[in-house]
Amino acid sequence: MNTLSLADAVEKLPYVGPAYAKRLNKLGIITIEDLIFHFPFRYDDFSLISSINRIQPGETLTIRAKILEFRNEHTRNGKKIQKAVVADNSGSTEIIWFNQPYLSKVLRVGETYQFSGKADWFGRKIVFVSPEYEKTLISNIQSPTSDSLHTGRLVPVYPETYGISSKWLRSRIKAALQIFGEKIEEFLPPEIVKKNNLLSEQEAIRLIHFPENKSQAELSRKRLSFDELFLIQLAGRLRKKDWQKKFSGYQFKIFPAETKKFVDSLPFKLTAAQEKVWSEISADLERKEPMNRLLQGDVGSGKTVVAAIAIYNAFLNNFSSVFMAPTEILATQHYQTLTNFFSPFKIKVELVTSSHRQLNPTEDKSPKIIVGTHALLFKKPPEKVGFIVIDEQQRFGVEQRAQLLKESSEEKIPHLLTMTATPIPRTVALTIFGDLDLSFLNEMPKGRLVVKTWVVPPFKREDAYRWIRKLVKGTSQQAFIICPLIEESETLATSRAAKSEYQQLSEKIFPDLKLGLLHGRMNTTEKDQVIDDFRRGKLDILVSTPVVEVGIDIPKATIMMIEAADRFGLAQLHQLRGRVGRNKIESFCLLFTENSDPKAIKRIKFMESKNIGMELAEIDLRLRGPGEIYGTKQHGFPDLKIASFADLDLIEQTRKAADSLLATDFSLLQNTNSPLNKKLKKYKIIQEISN
Ligand code: ADP
Ligand code: MG
Repeated sequence: MNTLSLADAVEKLPYVGPAYAKRLNKLGIITIEDLIFHFPFRYDDFSLISSINRIQPGETLTIRAKILEFRNEHTRNGKKIQKAVVADNSGSTEIIWFNQPYLSKVLRVGETYQFSGKADWFGRKIVFVSPEYEKTLISNIQSPTSDSLHTGRLVPVYPETYGISSKWLRSRIKAALQIFGEKIEEFLPPEIVKKNNLLSEQEAIRLIHFPENKSQAELSRKRLSFDELFLIQLAGRLRKKDWQKKFSGYQFKIFPAETKKFVDSLPFKLTAAQEKVWSEISADLERKEPMNRLLQGDVGSGKTVVAAIAIYNAFLNNFSSVFMAPTEILATQHYQTLTNFFSPFKIKVELVTSSHRQLNPTEDKSPKIIVGTHALLFKKPPEKVGFIVIDEQQRFGVEQRAQLLKESSEEKIPHLLTMTATPIPRTVALTIFGDLDLSFLNEMPKGRLVVKTWVVPPFKREDAYRWIRKLVKGTSQQAFIICPLIEESETLATSRAAKSEYQQLSEKIFPDLKLGLLHGRMNTTEKDQVIDDFRRGKLDILVSTPVVEVGIDIPKATIMMIEAADRFGLAQLHQLRGRVGRNKIESFCLLFTENSDPKAIKRIKFMESKNIGMELAEIDLRLRGPGEIYGTKQHGFPDLKIASFADLDLIEQTRKAADSLLATDFSLLQNTNSPLNKKLKKYKIIQEISN
C-alpha cells in the first residue's frame, strides 16, 4: 500500500479494479490523482438533523432511526416497492423506496441507520421517499458524524457515468483521501496563497469533497478555481515567452509615406480605432520577435483594411503575405477586395482554393499576396512569406499557430495576425489567449445605420412574412432567412432543416418570390453559384444555415430574419445581424422564437437595445456562461473543470498572481521537479521552458 503513489493507475486502489477502472476512464479518470481531482458539481444539503416527531412535509433532512419492519410489496400495476417502519426516541415513521428489492439484503431489521432525504405526503401519511441511508458509528444524533458520507451532511454529487454512481465515488474518494490526502502537494508559492487568502491545496481538496458547511465548500471551490485559472494563464504566458524565445521573425521597416499614400487611395478615412490598431501592429512588425496578435472587432468594423496596410508594408519589405479565410466564398470575397485595394499599386494578388488552384510555383518570385482557405497552410508557397493573416478562424488560429510551430525548421517565422468578429470580454480574452497580444477595433466607421431589431412573437409570424414580401418584392432589397441552430457544426440534420425550410417557404409562403438555399453540405460550385446569384440580385431571399459564411458581404441585403433565435448566443446573433446594414439603406433584424420562457425572451430582447458585440457578449457571459456563448470546442476554449469564465474578479486576481510570479520568482518554473511544474505538465499545457 505504501508503495502506491498518486500517479498510479486508479485500479490499484482497494475495491476499484479493472472493471471499475474502465468505467472511470470514461470520466477521464486514469490515475488516483484524477480520482481525487474529480470534483462534485453540487451538494445535497442533508445537514438538517431532526427527530422523527418534528419532521415537516417538504423538508429535506436527516433522521437517525432503528428499522422495526421491512417488507417488499407489489403495487397493483406490478411494480415493486419497499417499505420500512423506523423509529427513534421521539416516534416512528415510514420509508418507501421504489423498485429496489435488493434493499432487503442491505438493510437489517433491528439496526440503526441514518436516513437523509425529503419528507413528503404519501396518501395521508408523512413518509420518507427514497432517502439515502447509511450505517454510521456515532450514536449521538445531535452531533453530526464526521464519518458519515452519504447522509447527515453536505453530500457531494459528482459527474457520473454508467456503473459509477455518486455514492460509489464518495466512498472511493474518501478512501483515496485517507491514504493519499497527506501526499497532495502545495504547488503555489506561499506568498500567493497568503496574499489571496487561499486554503492550502490539501485542505481545499479535502473540503471540496467533504465540507462541513457551505462556507467551507465555497472556500475550497475558490482555491481550486484559482488553481485552474492561474495555471491556464501561467501556461499562456509561458507559451508566449517560448514563442518569443524560440523564433525570430523578419524585422520589417515601416514606410510611413507609402502607407499614407495607400490609405489616401481608399474611399474613406480610417477610424481612430483603425489608426490605433495599425500603430500596435506596426510596432510588432518592427520587432525581431514574430508578431502573434489577435485582432477583435465587430462585423463591419473594418479589420480587412488594417490587415491590408500591414500587407502593403510587408510587400515594401520585399515579402509576400498570405491571407487565409475559413471558406472559399470568403476567400474569393477577400481576393476581390484586396485586388481592388492593390491594383493601383501594381501588386499581384492570387487566389488559391480547391476550385482555383493557382499557386504558380516557378513563374515569378516577386512578392505578392496569396489569398485562400486555411488549407494554404499546408502548401508551401515558393515566395518568401513574411506575414500571415488568419481571418474569422473559428478556433482563433490555434491550429494554424501549432502547424507553423511544427513546420518551422528554420528559426524565422512570419508575423501572424489572427482576426475575429467574435467578441470576447477583454478579461476572458486575456485568460484564454495569454500567449497572444490583443487588439480591439472598438469603433465602427461613421455613417453606419443601426440595424433595427425586433423579437417577433409566434402570432406575428404571418405579418412578418407579409412585411418582408413588401420590402423585397420588385425592389433591390434582399433578405436572409437563417434556419435554427441545431448543432455547433453543420451536420446532416442542419442541412436537412434548411432544405425543408427552403421548400416550405418557396412553396407555401413566398411562391411569388425568388429564393435560394445555402448550406454547408453543398459543393463549392453550388455555393458560389447561389451567393453569386444573391449578390447580383437574382434572388430576393437567401435561406441559409447559421454556420455558413460569417463574413459574407452583400450590400443590398437589408433584412435578416433568424429562426429559433433563443438557441443562439447573443454574440452570435450580433454577428449574423452584421450581415445586413452594410450600406446606407435602413436595415432590419427579426428574431423569431417559439420559446415562451420569459427568461429566454428577455435575453434575446437585449438585441433590440444593444448594438455593441462586446456588451452583448458580456451580458451572455453573465446569463449563460461562456460555453453556451461560443461553443467551447468550436473556439478552442479550454474546458474548465471548476472555475468559470464568468468569474471576472477571480480571473483578474489570478492574472495578477501569474504575472507577479513570472516577474519575480522564476526558480519554481526552472526546476522541472517543482510541484508547480508538475502541475503545469499535468494540465498538459506547459511547454517546457528551456532556459
Ligand atoms: P470586418 O471587420 O467585418 O472584416 P470589413 O473589413 O469587411 O469589416 O469592412 C466592412 C466594410 O467597411 C467594407 O466595405 C470596408 O471597405 C468598409 N470600411 C472599412 N473601414 C472603413 C472606414 N474607416 N470608413 C468607412 N468604411 C470603412
Ligand atoms: Mg471580415
